[in-house]
Amino acid sequence: MSLSLTLIGTGAVRANPARGGPGQLLELPDGRRLLFDCGRCTVGNLARLGFAAESVSHVFLTHLHFDHVCDLPYLVLLSWNNGRAGPLPVYGPPGTGEFLEHAVRAAYARDIGSRVAHGKSLDGLEWTVRTLAAEGTIAAWGNVEISVLRSSHAGLHNLNYRIDLPGRRIGITSDTEPDPRFAEFYRNADLLVCECSGTSAFLGDKPWGGWHMTPERVAALVNDAAVREVVLKHFVVEDFPGGEGAAEAMAESVRRLTGAEVIAGCDGFRWSADDV
Ligand SMILES: [Zn+2]
Ligand SMILES: [Zn+2]
Repeated sequence: MSLSLTLIGTGAVRANPARGGPGQLLELPDGRRLLFDCGRCTVGNLARLGFAAESVSHVFLTHLHFDHVCDLPYLVLLSWNNGRAGPLPVYGPPGTGEFLEHAVRAAYARDIGSRVAHGKSLDGLEWTVRTLAAEGTIAAWGNVEISVLRSSHAGLHNLNYRIDLPGRRIGITSDTEPDPRFAEFYRNADLLVCECSGTSAFLGDKPWGGWHMTPERVAALVNDAAVREVVLKHFVVEDFPGGEGAAEAMAESVRRLTGAEVIAGCDGFRWSADDV
């Protein structure tokens, strides 16, 4: 049985043609496909990587910044169009339910009405929202457990995820400031997909720079938690000196400061374990 994680998008807010907005797809040994965030280009990148929108079984949102959720209405509508069976479970911070009501049912009321008037059933245009107000374990199926930890980011209700299976631990951070509690939450993780928006020099003069992780902040987390492998994401590299090369340079910085394996993530990068 295998466990795999695919990076669907490794960019952020800007329309970088080489990097979609945030999205990660975790495929569990039992066949469930869990999508963490659904940012710009997520649905298109899923298709490019061979995943149909309606094959996503659950969605988990980190926070409600638009770069992390703007493709979710499209995922919901396209799933409906393609014949999704049953409601889509969506886990997210307070406000997730309102976001979906506004961005799907209200925004597309005329579209939906038109299709229904021409015979389309409303079956499949359904979701269930699990609002994650508290920390701790939020889902458990068989030997799989999913937990969340809140951290500071731009004043939003912000959720970092951890997935535990026997002998395997995977972490997926949100956009985040450093937090000393990450050391325990991500202790001995086999894989941590961690945001690394830019260097301290780049982020230092941005009003939003303090909301994010730098290579030094990532390295401290990796060392404190004894993470084995870290994959960097959420690059804001469009106006860096060195452009795309800056992502690999940041990975090298983390490498120098840790004993971990460090990878600069790219769209389509896939990690897998076959002995789960
Ligand atoms: Zn973001
Ligand atoms: Zn954000």
